[in-house]
Amino acid sequence: MRILLVEDDDMIGEAVRLGLRKQGMTVDWARDGAAARAALGAESFDLMLLDLGLPKLDGLQVLRWLRNTGSTMPVLILTARDSVEARIQGLDAGADDYILKPFDLDELAARMRAVLRRQAGRAENLIEHEGITLDPASHAVTRDGAPIRLSHREFALLHALLEHPGHVLSRAQLEERLYGWGEEIESNAVEVHIHNLRKKLGNEVIQNVRGVGYRVRSMA
Ligand code: CA
Repeated sequence: MRILLVEDDDMIGEAVRLGLRKQGMTVDWARDGAAARAALGAESFDLMLLDLGLPKLDGLQVLRWLRNTGSTMPVLILTARDSVEARIQGLDAGADDYILKPFDLDELAARMRAVLRRQAGRAENLIEHEGITLDPASHAVTRDGAPIRLSHREFALLHALLEHPGHVLSRAQLEERLYGWGEEIESNAVEVHIHNLRKKLGNEVIQNVRGVGYRVRSMA
């Protein structure tokens, strides 16, 4: 799960980044609206956490720009309690939800999961696919009912693939899910994690599409 955090307050930004990393998410942090827009134009994210009062471009401008590009990426606004007007404008401009500052990190993570779940068209949190279940909240994974232990990065890879069964993700797209800005990418990391996932889940679960990338079989 790769998140773009847009926040100019150092304390809040650092706390959110650390908290979400502990949950196994990859977090990139933009400190102003122009940096956010540049990041959105260059890379893909699963969700954006967006402060409204920002230097250079404010959050609403970033959001309107994003929606004008046709992006349906989930956006959750981080906002102060007294700014009802701004929250309404944010929702009208295409935000999916908001959370009031100061917020609890566990609640933030739960709201993020809810928004992502709606985006994926699921009423349930649990992702199920051909005998495998993955719970984004508890990070529990089972195969035919038996618990499977995965590392953070193995979990992140499997999560990315299970979100869109049948859809091929390239090695570069999978690396984006695993590594944030400035993190050194270990060579062959994706191959190593895929290899370990196959050992744990069975060889047939993740398919290699030669020269393109990886996917889990579609049930269709
Ligand atoms: Ca701010």
